Amino acid sequence: MKYIIGIDDHDSPNRGCTTHFATNLIKIFHKDGIKLLDFPYLIRLNPNIPWKTRGNASIKLIVESDKDIEEIADIVWNASLDYVNNVSQGLKYGRKPGMAIVNYESSIILENFYTKAVSDVITQGFMEKYIQKTNAIVRGSRGIIGSLAAIGFEGNYTFELLTYRKEENWEKKREIDLDSLIAFDEKFFPKVFANVDYTKKRPLILSHGGDPVFYGIRGIDPEILLKGIDMIQIKDEEIENFMIFKSNQGTDAHIIKPGDKVYQTYYGKVTIKDVEIIPGGDVILRTENGLTIFVYKETGELNSMAKLLLSGDEIVVLGAIKPSSKYGRIIDAERIEILSLSNKVEYKNPKCPICGHSSESIGKNKGYRCKKCGYKFNSEKEIIEFPRDICLGTYQTRYYRHLTKPIFLEFYNDYKKETEVLNKILNILLHN
Ligand SMILES: [Zn+2]
Repeated sequence: MKYIIGIDDHDSPNRGCTTHFATNLIKIFHKDGIKLLDFPYLIRLNPNIPWKTRGNASIKLIVESDKDIEEIADIVWNASLDYVNNVSQGLKYGRKPGMAIVNYESSIILENFYTKAVSDVITQGFMEKYIQKTNAIVRGSRGIIGSLAAIGFEGNYTFELLTYRKEENWEKKREIDLDSLIAFDEKFFPKVFANVDYTKKRPLILSHGGDPVFYGIRGIDPEILLKGIDMIQIKDEEIENFMIFKSNQGTDAHIIKPGDKVYQTYYGKVTIKDVEIIPGGDVILRTENGLTIFVYKETGELNSMAKLLLSGDEIVVLGAIKPSSKYGRIIDAERIEILSLSNKVEYKNPKCPICGHSSESIGKNKGYRCKKCGYKFNSEKEIIEFPRDICLGTYQTRYYRHLTKPIFLEFYNDYKKETEVLNKILNILLHN
């Protein structure tokens, strides 16, 4: 029988990580004769929800086994309880871990559930309806929502290779040779992404605090990520193991279903009404249809571009809809595409037709008088056009957001290669 398992909320603010638990679980499955049929999946859910767990990621595992569904649920949940009690201490920090398992064929019913979980808010009632519809076996509490959502994942994917530290090193500072990371990143661009912040000259791959993850590198080709293990040099430490996850990161999954309510993602064409640069450098764009768009300073080139927008410009904006005490709600922009720029013009009094000197207005509709020779004449105002300092095109936040698709990224699938790489890494994980 083929089953799909979802897992969520196994970390805590200080220790542990749901991906780390999943990697441990794959080892337990191996001992129990449960076969992993695909890479584990690391699924990010709605990034706009403020009460999300760190990173808001859950896990999906596709397995095959002779055991019945209840038996597998018990194996997973026993391992879960062990992890949240003894490794992450998640329960102590009020985490609400959960898991779900469905027959392979039922997972298609959960595609809608995933779409809602990545773009909106899911209620308890909505969750219960889908548990019934799919005959899912569930354990735990709130984490069941992320678990069901992960099971329903469908769409473009990227990969992330995560390395895990030995437990005695979890509190140690992470030290990496930046040059080796840059060499890796430059060699494989544009098939790798979000690994280095070139503006600030620092790695983006390092995890923080007591998390078992040392680093995670992201790309679209698992074979390339595997090369990273050898190319990227870490200092004074040896990693314990690693795993490659398939992921919806970098795929724009949050705009599968854009909306206009708080915590949804706005994605639509608007016309600029006015632009306000507030002290400190954040930009507020007001639109003809009454939206308030914030383009924060931290977004880098997106913010610089927004400062140059003018009334009448047509743009497509993508961003999180957030509640605001001052503005009711705002859109926190992460990407803006400029469709058309209005003409930047200035109206000047016409030049004197006799001597060419500048003129002054005599009064409304009364014409002009030359400032030098005094000649009075009627004429239209002179229109002076200035070039705009920005180009049409797409501008995106510099700030890394898990789901936002880097502009250069192109997806493709190579199932044969994927299978080869998966077998290779399972071989390393399970026989070390
Ligand atoms: Zn004159």
